[in-house]
Amino acid sequence: MASAVVVGASVAGLLTARVLSDLVDDVVVLEREHLIDAPAARGHVPQGRHLHLLLTAGLGLMVDWFPGIREELEGLGAVRIDGSRAWVYQAGGYRAQGDWGRAALSMTRPLLEQVLRRRVALLENVRLEDGVAVDRVEVSDGRVSGVVVDGVSRPADLVVDCSGRSSRIAHQLASSGILAPPVSQVSIDCAYTSGFMQRSTDDFEGTFLVCGTSPPTSFRGGAVLPVEGERWMVTLAGVHGDLPGITEGELLSFARGLSSPAVGQLLARAGPLSSVAVYRFPFSQRRHYEKTRQLLPGFVTLGDAACSFNPIYGQGMACAALQAEALGETVRTTGVGSPDLPRLFHRRAARIIDAPWAIAVGADFMHPMTVGPKARGTDALNRYVLRVVKATHTSVPVARSFNRVLNLVEPPTTLIRPSVLGRVLASSLPGPHRPAPVHHPRVGPPSAVQADG
Ligand SMILES: Cc1cc2nc3c(=O)[nH]c(=O)nc-3n(C[C@H](O)[C@H](O)[C@H](O)COP(=O)(O)OP(=O)(O)OC[C@H]3O[C@@H](n4cnc5c(N)ncnc54)[C@H](O)[C@@H]3O)c2cc1C
Repeated sequence: MASAVVVGASVAGLLTARVLSDLVDDVVVLEREHLIDAPAARGHVPQGRHLHLLLTAGLGLMVDWFPGIREELEGLGAVRIDGSRAWVYQAGGYRAQGDWGRAALSMTRPLLEQVLRRRVALLENVRLEDGVAVDRVEVSDGRVSGVVVDGVSRPADLVVDCSGRSSRIAHQLASSGILAPPVSQVSIDCAYTSGFMQRSTDDFEGTFLVCGTSPPTSFRGGAVLPVEGERWMVTLAGVHGDLPGITEGELLSFARGLSSPAVGQLLARAGPLSSVAVYRFPFSQRRHYEKTRQLLPGFVTLGDAACSFNPIYGQGMACAALQAEALGETVRTTGVGSPDLPRLFHRRAARIIDAPWAIAVGADFMHPMTVGPKARGTDALNRYVLRVVKATHTSVPVARSFNRVLNLVEPPTTLIRPSVLGRVLASSLPGPHRPAPVHHPRVGPPSAVQADG
């Protein structure tokens, strides 16, 4: 009888358990925190208090694995968002509204986790044990044979480390020299402040607003997305010491410094935010298991424990879902106990991680204070992406292609397909006319005078 232990019952761990339930007789998920059946932020997942957009690549897999989950989440207040009425500002303009491909789903992270936990609890061969902290993995005869909890062995044919960015297991294995993959770290010192306010259909004409960074003039980001409970979730983010603050005055002042005036107008009209939380994210981090010659049979790493990116691009959960899918495909071909499994899985996982890593870390290098290993061609790529962003202001097909890349549905190489390239080049040709003035979304009821911005 084949068995697996998954360490960590957050998004990566729950999705991994779901995938393995089709392939392994007995799956146990061990979570150090005591879990409650409520959409509540958790102490060990502090990022859950901040905006968590589920990109369409992740949503698509979840819908396959848990039939009806989209409708279940919508029934609990999650909101479909698509390009038809979206306000996404970047590099001097809003993305052209229209068909950007499949809709994403906006909700709080705790709601998503709660529903995933409930769905996993329904799987017959999966057991979720909370309040159980894994001390270490057990290594015998050159392979991982299980985990140790409170000094007691828990054997398994496969252990999957989904214990997050600060994985104790990864640190222990590296410091003891048993498994020490090269690690890339790229500084960003990203600071988040988030909170809620009552949602009004008068704001942004009832949809949502994302104000992305506009390098080199602005590295601030801000987003207002609809979540359950008829609320807006508002997140402000700065990098390299540009902090959004926490008081009403600091947040308003930061929001007024965004490239789009709309977030500042919303805070001025309807603020202050409730349940304000802050988060500091020092650097993107990638553990390169794919570059490690000697992996440990019986052990793989997935999710933030393998790679965690600057969160502003919202890629972590979708990337974890894609890695979980890759684990399933690999186990299907090798079997769960195969010594080849870690090598083959991490090779596949690295190809998945490459795209979001290039998107997030590549763009972070547009800030002069960003330090870390920089891939060759990053600056040229960034210059081209900026032209793509500008082309999205007027071209719905380019906006759709770009959106599909950002949602991890298509690889970044699709942005240089002739159909996209031609439009990008055409849109950047010098024209006889001045660019049209930017139309910002309305904040407040139709008659409201926009005092700011
Ligand atoms: C501010 C911020 C905003 C973000 N926004 C987005 C977004 O918009 N969209 C998106 O997709 N992603 C976003 N992310 C990333 C996302 O949060 C992660 O990628 C996602 O949580 C997947 O992480 P994980 O499951 O690998 O690890 P985590 O979520 O960190 O969970 C690890 C789990 O393991 C448990 N654990 C740890 N050690 C042990 C142990 N020894 N024994 C047992 N259990 C253990 C922890 O308690 C925890 O439950 C954001 C991140 C941050 C920081």
